[in-house]
Amino acid sequence: MARIRLDGVSKRFGTTPVVQDVNLDIADGEFLVLLGPSGCGKSTLLRMIAGLESLSAGRILLDDLDVTATPPRQRDVAMVFQSYALYPHLTVAKNIGFPLRARGRSREQIRNKVTAVAAALGLVEHLDRRPAALSGGQRQRVALARAIVREPGAFLMDEPLSNLDAALRSATRTELTDLHRRLGATFLYVTHDQVEAMTMASRIALLNRGRIEQVGTPSELYDAPRSTFVAAFLGSPP
Ligand code: ADP
Ligand code: MG
Repeated sequence: MARIRLDGVSKRFGTTPVVQDVNLDIADGEFLVLLGPSGCGKSTLLRMIAGLESLSAGRILLDDLDVTATPPRQRDVAMVFQSYALYPHLTVAKNIGFPLRARGRSREQIRNKVTAVAAALGLVEHLDRRPAALSGGQRQRVALARAIVREPGAFLMDEPLSNLDAALRSATRTELTDLHRRLGATFLYVTHDQVEAMTMASRIALLNRGRIEQVGTPSELYDAPRSTFVAAFLGSPP
């Protein structure tokens, strides 16, 4: 059973096709990187899975359940936004606990869960601070913590490292792969960065003009590119 199944997923904006007949299964526990150049439709595809964008054709299934018409809040996925989107007036603890409060959990349940997740992400000493008092990397971790407390079936991440400087980006890359292993969670990770994809992915789906060019492990794509586009994008030797 696929955690996420994309079945003929397509999207047009007006008459412009942006995502075209994408078929892809993402298994439980995978770290799948959706890779491709700017404008190829990665964000649109991720937003369709999250329920933030409607489909022009096709279906989306989560654990065999057709969620194509299901509102975002009722889908068993969590989107980790690029822009952090934290509540500036709330403390880190309240930001992390927000999804649990919205679900009516008790104060004690919320406190226990928030403390555990904050400990896992190295945020314990920042729980009483507000987002403005944190570094970019710390804010990124708070956003991730807020997604983790929901215990979603899959995490959807749209270029989460793009606002970080080079040194922090490399450190956060390692943190994210560690976290993926510890959580045993399913990650669908969008990037245009080949290095991120090659170092983090268990599998890569390479997108070109809204279509999947090739799906496989990083070494499969690099060593056996199926098209000149794949070879050129990954810098495979001729
Ligand atoms: P990526 O994330 O790979 O950079 P996007 O999914 O953001 O690509 O965009 C794919 C294409 O769809 C781009 O040409 C973009 O301009 C277009 N697009 C995205 N959102 C909209 C929209 N709401 N209305 C019209 N065109 C859009
Ligand atoms: Mg994008």
